[in-house]
Amino acid sequence: MYTITLIPGDGIGPEISTAAVKVIEATGVKVDWEYHDAGMTAIDKFKDPLPSQVIESIQRNQVALKGPLTTPIGTGFRSVNVALRKEFDLYVNLRPAKSFEGVESHWRDIDMIVFRENTEEFYAGIEHYIDPAKSAAETIGVVTRAGSERILRYAFEYARKHKRKKVTIVHKANILKFTSGLFLEVGKKLAEEYPDIETSDKIIDNMCMQLVMNPHQFDLIVTTNLFGDILSDLCSGLVGGLGLAPGANIGYKVAMFEAVHGSAPDIAGKNIANPCAIILASAMLLRHIGELEAATRIEHAVGTTIKEKHHVTRDLNPSKPVGTQEMTDAIILNLK
Ligand code: NAD
Repeated sequence: MYTITLIPGDGIGPEISTAAVKVIEATGVKVDWEYHDAGMTAIDKFKDPLPSQVIESIQRNQVALKGPLTTPIGTGFRSVNVALRKEFDLYVNLRPAKSFEGVESHWRDIDMIVFRENTEEFYAGIEHYIDPAKSAAETIGVVTRAGSERILRYAFEYARKHKRKKVTIVHKANILKFTSGLFLEVGKKLAEEYPDIETSDKIIDNMCMQLVMNPHQFDLIVTTNLFGDILSDLCSGLVGGLGLAPGANIGYKVAMFEAVHGSAPDIAGKNIANPCAIILASAMLLRHIGELEAATRIEHAVGTTIKEKHHVTRDLNPSKPVGTQEMTDAIILNLK
């Protein structure tokens, strides 16, 4: 029996987390879930978006599954997602983008992973208006040598361990000569230790165009926080959208698994959200705790359900969709 923290999340969070719990349960892996509210839901209940019991639970269990959390735009409390990543020093954000047979999208056979630095730069929250009249504002992005080295090394080690061929370092070192320049310099130096892996680098704007025009040239992508956030949504778009994109936040001790997408308030509570992203994140969680067979079964069941196309949500089959719950039930049937 494993004890794992579960944050159901805001918006579509509760619907898709329930789906993930049901699928894990159906694999036979026994989990005692410690449910905790964070984000908007916790504000409503405790007047605190990140109550101390959430931190304590994750600290104790060292593994968490998290639904998406809403962050107010422009004003209000700071992102709880960012706070959790900082609190547990989850410096790796690993976001795969993999094609599924049966998904209508421009590209087939894509298999890429974005490794996003998850703790530094523009997400560190060093920002303010320069005067009470709010005539100007500044956000400071700090990139450190140590912070760059650990995410870059993680990507190179991952490439070696999983026999991946290429690492592309993405930056804007032509303009951001210091922050992006430092990241690129560390990456190039580190690449010398990995002669078995082909390394190249691309400027972020060119990278976006190349990904849209010819994504098959890429394998593993490693980049700083903001570029990684944007690129992982772009990559999900290449394989059929956010409903299919899982992610892991990994530190030295703690790992937290979630979908790449947000709380999708536009479709919340309607039983129409695609549950696959968080279900695939659950498979990543199971692999992380050593339940490899259950993880593979989930990935296979998701793939089969998508390929059959009879029980998929409207993002995958707009003319004849089923609901979140029905798609989850089909995935569970395909586990057998
Ligand atoms: P979003 O990812 O929530 O939604 C973008 C679009 O994708 C919407 O049209 C939505 O309906 C659709 N979508 C997302 N998930 C889907 C799914 N599973 N199935 C079908 N369609 C899906 O992004 P947003 O609207 O920009 O952000 C909403 C909120 O989520 C914001 O408060 C943002 O801060 C937060 N957010 C949280 C996380 C996280 O918890 N890690 C990540 C991104 C955004």
